[in-house]
Amino acid sequence: AGICGTCGVKANQKPILACKTAIKDLGEEVLVEPLDSMHPVKDLVVEHGTLIERIKKLKVWYEPLQESLQRLEINPFLLKSFDCIACGLCDSSCPIFVGNSDFGGPMAFSRAYKLLQDRRHSKAEERLLLLKDAHINLCTHCKNCSLICPMGVMPEMLIKLEEVELLKRGMHSQGGVADFGFF
Ligand code: SF4
Ligand code: SF4
Repeated sequence: AGICGTCGVKANQKPILACKTAIKDLGEEVLVEPLDSMHPVKDLVVEHGTLIERIKKLKVWYEPLQESLQRLEINPFLLKSFDCIACGLCDSSCPIFVGNSDFGGPMAFSRAYKLLQDRRHSKAEERLLLLKDAHINLCTHCKNCSLICPMGVMPEMLIKLEEVELLKRGMHSQGGVADFGFF
């Protein structure tokens, strides 16, 4: 059903969610392996601790609201951020995530977008600093993450939007800015 994000594996070299993939679509021979970039525990089971650590670094969680509830303005990009099921397929396919523990990674950046956009918490500046500290500028915009995401979250697009917010406030470091051809 593509809900819990725990059945990520590589099938014929490509990261997939096993529950959303029909075996008939994989060809005559199927090579199934554990995901890259995460420590294998046993057989196809990988350690998800690496992903959890990045989420902790970026503080990607909701805190109780101090004020009375207000309506959250929804836009299509925000919905994409909510659609992330934390499967980690994007991180496993990101060339920067591998071997760079300081880089937040496409999963954490995608999930952070909804918090950045949530004006009810009024912590945009603090959230942007966390993105900067997680070296969002190292993203090369190769789009591997967007191509691999089984939920259509398009992490690379959300990273671009976060970088735009950083640029607007003069907080962006040199690195990923050169790839802003999209805008
Ligand atoms: S676009 Fe950025 S975050 Fe996505 S896979 Fe490429 S380098 Fe990693
Ligand atoms: S952005 Fe997509 S691939 Fe990455 S963790 Fe979320 S659902 Fe999985």
